Amino acid sequence: MSLNLRDELVNKSIEESKFKYAGRNFKEEDTVIEVAGVKIGGDNFTVFAGPCSVESKDQIVDLAGKVRLAGCQVLRGGAFKPRTSPHTFQGLGDKGIRYLVDAKEVTGLPVVSEIMDPSQLELFKDVDILQIGAKNMQNFALLKAVGKTNKPVLLKRGFSNTLEELLFSAEYIMSEGNHKVILCERGIRTFETSMRNTFDITAIALLRQLTHLPVIADPSHSTGESKLVSPVCKAAVAAGCQGLLIETHDEPQSALCDGFQAITIEELKELLPKLEELRRIL
Ligand code: PEP
Ligand code: MN
Repeated sequence: MSLNLRDELVNKSIEESKFKYAGRNFKEEDTVIEVAGVKIGGDNFTVFAGPCSVESKDQIVDLAGKVRLAGCQVLRGGAFKPRTSPHTFQGLGDKGIRYLVDAKEVTGLPVVSEIMDPSQLELFKDVDILQIGAKNMQNFALLKAVGKTNKPVLLKRGFSNTLEELLFSAEYIMSEGNHKVILCERGIRTFETSMRNTFDITAIALLRQLTHLPVIADPSHSTGESKLVSPVCKAAVAAGCQGLLIETHDEPQSALCDGFQAITIEELKELLPKLEELRRIL
């Protein structure tokens, strides 16, 4: 049976509540996470952009420069890819992390990448933000391990998980002492099959009310189609998200992973000022 989240995270006292850290009843004001001079949460708006996966050193260093010039604050790039099929590109692994860190050194942009196993923590020592992917949202050993670090954690909602489960996963991380958790709505599975996933816009609005943690949206995995990224970004901003995780590629048609949902740098440059304008109006 599901809990009444507003009661548990806002109305009840911490003693009575099933949640101890993630709710507004633990901390009324928004949490602002600082990483390499970038602020995430509160009134800040943070754009995380970059390719689904790091494909080569040249690709990620070049794209990182463009992502920075476009006005984004964080560079994304997967090195370990939890692909549905074992026969598809699995990411560059250790090398991918090295190239991502090279791109960070060249551009100064902090980087985020998906960690799949606690044994990879040492390898991620120069990665600024640890991403927990949708498929690992309830990998409790991994949640506890990242909870013992002091790095910000970008926690993506599992595509079959409720918000209650997402917030309990955040509690797993926070219970270990790490309160730097960023929540990410990335679309869920519904009966609708026209899109890769169904973007849960209400989740953004509800999470903003229930939790003090930063809430961002991923329009790329939510839609699975580059043409839908811009309108969904606007909707997410209107719903109150504090940042966006956008897959970006120089040549989406030749991307090794998720090219169909990647937008180009030109499209990104066109989109960001519109989102700024929207935020000003709101
Ligand atoms: C990703 O961000 O590249 C990714 C794999 O996303 P998700 O875990 O949301 O599927
Ligand atoms: Mn992807």
